[in-house]
Amino acid sequence: MTPDEFRAAGHAMVDRIAAYLDSVGEQRIVPDIAPGDVYAALPSTAPATTTDVDTLMADIDRVIIPNLSHWQHPGWFAYFPANTSYASILAELLSAGLGVQGMSWVTSPAATEVETLMCDWMLDLLGLPRSFRSDTATGGGVIQGSASEATLVAILAARWRATQGAVNDTGDTSRLVAYRTAQAHSSIDKGLRIAGIGEQRIRTVAHDADLAMDPADLARQMTADVDAGLQPFFVCSTHGTTSTLAMDPTAAIADAIDTVDGAGTHRVWLHVDAAMAGIAALDPDQRWVNDGVDRADSYCTNPHKWMGVNFDCTLFWTVDRHAMLGALSILPAYLRSTAADSGAIDYRDWQIPLGRRFRALKLLFVLRLDGVEPIIEMLRHHLRLANDLAARVAAHPRLEIAAPPRLGLVCLSHIDGDAATDALIDAVNASGRHLVTRTEVDGRSLLRVSIGARTTAAEHVDALWDDIHAHS
Ligand SMILES: *Cc1c(COP(=O)(O)O)cnc(C)c1O
Repeated sequence: MTPDEFRAAGHAMVDRIAAYLDSVGEQRIVPDIAPGDVYAALPSTAPATTTDVDTLMADIDRVIIPNLSHWQHPGWFAYFPANTSYASILAELLSAGLGVQGMSWVTSPAATEVETLMCDWMLDLLGLPRSFRSDTATGGGVIQGSASEATLVAILAARWRATQGAVNDTGDTSRLVAYRTAQAHSSIDKGLRIAGIGEQRIRTVAHDADLAMDPADLARQMTADVDAGLQPFFVCSTHGTTSTLAMDPTAAIADAIDTVDGAGTHRVWLHVDAAMAGIAALDPDQRWVNDGVDRADSYCTNPHKWMGVNFDCTLFWTVDRHAMLGALSILPAYLRSTAADSGAIDYRDWQIPLGRRFRALKLLFVLRLDGVEPIIEMLRHHLRLANDLAARVAAHPRLEIAAPPRLGLVCLSHIDGDAATDALIDAVNASGRHLVTRTEVDGRSLLRVSIGARTTAAEHVDALWDDIHAHS
């Protein structure tokens, strides 16, 4: 492709993206196809001859677009939102065009420093503790690819601290024990597994009727483990669980940890996973979602869910930069620099991979071009829609609210039981106009309605309600 061809195709691509987003609500929200159908519709080997961009785009329109699940669809009530925004899309384009690698300060100074600045901006906008700021020397923020990676980084830092890291780490993790409730995200267990923590060393802490962690049970289990010669090292408190947006009580969890914790270098690490809900704190009225975070060692939230920053963009902060760098910093000769020697941030030491994209541009563009006010308006709009839906469910004779409604999430079930709830989910999704997902809490089937797509309006929730009502 020549520069002139790129210019022409690039302008046309922006038009196409805008047209797609304008009309995505008219698409069937998920395709009605079987695994393998898309693969079979495309040539089985790489073509011997090339084609022009119009022919390629015609194939995209024919085979790819109709076979997507349309996450930007206004009827997207499934899982959690993965919102995009025009400002963020532009930043993605610029990032791709610049093609820089921000693994260390010296490999692209502006990429590193804009990222530090964006973490500081977001920290202020979310009202998070100052102890997370990068200019504190002990704390700092970084953009990770996903909450799963952020959690893994937290676990590795926790492991380093618990084993005194390089000082006398024999690599033996068999005595380390981690704690979370059954409601915690699967990425916690996956991270622990990657870190060498066996399943028999992962404790399930009891939860209360609101599905929040019971701190008394945490203290009991930690004490029993210490008495058995084991070493508690990591606790995950979830602010907004994936199934129901349940909120673990972080301050009370920190108190429970304090009653049994080892001192000094062996301190138990408290990580707060606020991947979905934390971003609600952009609205000053919703700052409660981060209550107790000042007691945590690390915290993450995802601008790439509700906020409208294109995937991937997870914000991760820690107050113990030393442990994180201890776990992840390796300095081979080919990466040495005088800047690093003088204390410049090298974000490769704050994450799993070496190479890294210029993701901070997405936050810079969204915050400078759109600003935070329209995002707060969108969040409030979604909360009103969710409140309204919850009221309709509560008033319905054959439906019940199945978990306390929180933020944009309403979980409901059919009074006739799990089979009726499951049938309702299938019937509601059959229209192709909207998508809800199923979850299970304490063995019970729930229909989840997650209201958070950027373009969801009252009419879309009304259409969903019509289907729910008609099939229940
Ligand atoms: C979405 C979510 C995750 C996973 O986020 P990724 O960025 O996809 O890894 C983890 N925890 C919670 C609470 C979530 O809502």
